[in-house]
Amino acid sequence: MEFCVLASGSNGNAIYLRSTQSGKAILLDCGISHRQLKNRLEARNRNLAEVSAIFLTHEHSDHVRGLNVTQKYYQIPFFLTRGTWTGLRNKSHLVDFQLLNPTEQILWEDFKIEPILKSHDAIEPVAFNVSLNGFQLLYATDFGMPNPALLSRIKTADVLIFEMNYDKLMLETGPYPEYLKLRIQSDQGHISNADSMAMIQEYAKPELKFFIAGHISENNNHPIIVQREIEQMLAKRGDLNPEVIIASRYEATELFCL
Ligand SMILES: [Zn+2]
Ligand SMILES: [Zn+2]
Repeated sequence: MEFCVLASGSNGNAIYLRSTQSGKAILLDCGISHRQLKNRLEARNRNLAEVSAIFLTHEHSDHVRGLNVTQKYYQIPFFLTRGTWTGLRNKSHLVDFQLLNPTEQILWEDFKIEPILKSHDAIEPVAFNVSLNGFQLLYATDFGMPNPALLSRIKTADVLIFEMNYDKLMLETGPYPEYLKLRIQSDQGHISNADSMAMIQEYAKPELKFFIAGHISENNNHPIIVQREIEQMLAKRGDLNPEVIIASRYEATELFCL
């Protein structure tokens, strides 16, 4: 399994995943411009032509921004829940999509993709658990509270791309208006560093290979704080030794392989 976080955060989100066995690739979310997608993939010696499907988590613009133009040039089929389709704007030119049943797994090439409903202020948002080449990757950002299905998938993940959106103190003392602070902290908003780490500490398996912190707020969080929180969690657990990466909104991570 090869993967790369092309972008993560409120400016845009996109994950690239490729089977080292078949050479087929997919995207999870398409929230940066077509040009950015193309450039960031080419910088990793990969390209959009090898992407055979796009799976969308929800309709917020930071997850779908590049969809229209990418579809226009490449006619890549995309998958989304009925609620996400309902919430999607500017969709009259979009073709070749399939509705996801959020309780059913999809088999696509050699990928097995399991949507997991999540709590977020979108119509029918999902996280994705992807099984590929004997490994499992859980992509879970944009959720305000966990549910049993999501927690059970933390337990099986070899790769976690997991939200650490805000530091509670920075958010509470920061510049955001009150209504926005409440929205972010609500059950339908985002996950704080502390809540994220509590989940990983409790559920991650000792064999976890990669922990990638994602959707980090630019105003209410800082990579140094995120790094420290992860180190503290790892010290408490003692038996976890994943490669730790802090995903960026501005550039892709390297292309990881396992
Ligand atoms: Zn988002
Ligand atoms: Zn969102």
